[in-house]
Amino acid sequence: MKSEASEIAVACEHCGRVFRRTAYEVRSQDGTLFRCLRCALTQAPLVRRSAIIALVVGTILTAINQGNIILSDEFPPSLYWKIALTYAVPYCVATAGAILNARRSIDAAQARRFDGEEKEVTMYGSVYKIRPKAGKEQDIVRMMEEWDRERRPNVKGALGGCMYKLDNGGLMGVAIFESKDDYRANAESPEQNAFYRRWRELMESDPEWNDGEIVGSWGQVP
Ligand SMILES: [Zn+2]
Repeated sequence: MKSEASEIAVACEHCGRVFRRTAYEVRSQDGTLFRCLRCALTQAPLVRRSAIIALVVGTILTAINQGNIILSDEFPPSLYWKIALTYAVPYCVATAGAILNARRSIDAAQARRFDGEEKEVTMYGSVYKIRPKAGKEQDIVRMMEEWDRERRPNVKGALGGCMYKLDNGGLMGVAIFESKDDYRANAESPEQNAFYRRWRELMESDPEWNDGEIVGSWGQVP
């Protein structure tokens, strides 16, 4: 039921380039996204955070290192690039830290993509026992066949079922749905209720329902 994650190509959500080995995980309003290095470096929140750090740290360092010269009358031209570097260094350090932190192997990006796209759903259904009224066994089974023809094509997620005539008396049915939600939706629908009331007429008592997840199947069972 799970397909191979390695078959899914994962690409940068921003520029669409397919990742070769590394992806960068960035946070946005849409949740976590994977970007290539270039698109991660230019991502607005990262640029903003690095700029704020550079502004604060750069200003403090400039004040410490060049404060006395700036306050004096002389302002040597070399000071321009020194101040520029004083701001550039914390910008680069902050960006490098964030980028190294965001680095993910391509396997992680594939696994995440896989989780998002294919939720594994467990099949669901019921095993139920019926006590037919005398002589009504065949009618009960016939109504199930009618259900299969007329109702099943309109019931979402109804995969199939079968009915046993038990050696020790009574009938035992199996109903298989794609998911618990589909099973519930059918059980609660007015159409199913109308069918059930007609069906119930043929029985001594309410069927004994045993609902549950289908955790294994073999052979041709859906
Ligand atoms: Zn990109």
